[in-house]
Amino acid sequence: MKAIVITQVGSPDVLQLHEIQRPAPDSDQGLIDVTVAGVNFIDIYHRLGKYPVKLPYIPGVEGVGTIAELGSNAPADLKIGMRVGWVMASGGYSESVIIPAKTLIPIPDDIKDEDAVALLLQGMTAHYLARNTYEIQPGDTAVVHSGAGGVGLLLTRYIKSLGGKVIATASTPEKQALVTAAGADLGIDYEGFAQKVKEFTAGQGAHVIYDGVGKDTFDEGLQALRRRGTLAVFGAASGQVPPIEIMKISSGSIYLTRPTLADFVVERSELLWRANEVFEAFRKDHMQVTIGGRYPLADAPAAHKNLESRKSTGKLVLQVR
Ligand code: NDP
Repeated sequence: MKAIVITQVGSPDVLQLHEIQRPAPDSDQGLIDVTVAGVNFIDIYHRLGKYPVKLPYIPGVEGVGTIAELGSNAPADLKIGMRVGWVMASGGYSESVIIPAKTLIPIPDDIKDEDAVALLLQGMTAHYLARNTYEIQPGDTAVVHSGAGGVGLLLTRYIKSLGGKVIATASTPEKQALVTAAGADLGIDYEGFAQKVKEFTAGQGAHVIYDGVGKDTFDEGLQALRRRGTLAVFGAASGQVPPIEIMKISSGSIYLTRPTLADFVVERSELLWRANEVFEAFRKDHMQVTIGGRYPLADAPAAHKNLESRKSTGKLVLQVR
């Protein structure tokens, strides 16, 4: 079978197509024939060695496919031939992949493979951010950085469905038009965003900032929050936020958190509940899927170049079979 294998960390060109042996699952695992693999920012961190991985490494934390083989200890709700998805695993850039069976998510018949991939990792991230990290209340004002990105578009629309107001940042007028089309009340550039948030909120500031950009937006974010506001730094597209002095969040008694999806899908019951909440939000048009690029498996380097160049919008996927 074919898979993208990294034998050294570095530029997108280290993502090379190899012929490798089809693996066999142990009693706790499933072997999945992958149809669509998601491309996520974390794949770039793995490729660059920013999140260290053991080489050789097959990237891809998320995908959808069909169960080809199942270990004897797999949950009873899973059957060979079922369509399933997964997040937070590795090896998805491959024709077949071994996944811990208890983390497999059955995909409902009315959700297409490509939509499921766009909804799983990024949709569940949007869900936990808006429902658990800071629970949006009707009338709240939220800032969503990188609003035209994969998480950004889903989160923007979802916050609107919960009754919140959204100020979304994006780097170009085209991207800003996309965020307003997704429901944002305001689509703005990053330049001077704190001032624009203050103007929009009659000087009060935002209740919450959902920040997947990190280094470039962190400091100004502190100026854009209202008293007792929440700064949720969930990513680092521009680089990691450097260590901070705790007194920086004292003025205004700011809540600062650095959440990660793994802590919001801990038990299988929570994983399936959250996935089904996201599928339901999609059916109600409270989350919309925007596919920003489709690539054959061999073109994974082009997908990475697009994502890290800041040119992409929405979800990028690898069409594996
Ligand atoms: P996006 O589709 O949002 O792509 C990244 C976007 O970040 C770019 O398009 C760009 O939008 C913006 N950006 C700002 N500065 C830079 C920069 N210096 N270099 C590159 N991009 C930049 O990606 P995802 O939706 O996949 O992920 C968004 C963030 O969320 C990532 O940081 C990711 O790691 C994180 N994440 C975290 C999770 C968690 O649970 N903690 C789970 C899922 C994702 P623009 O040009 O408009 O600025």
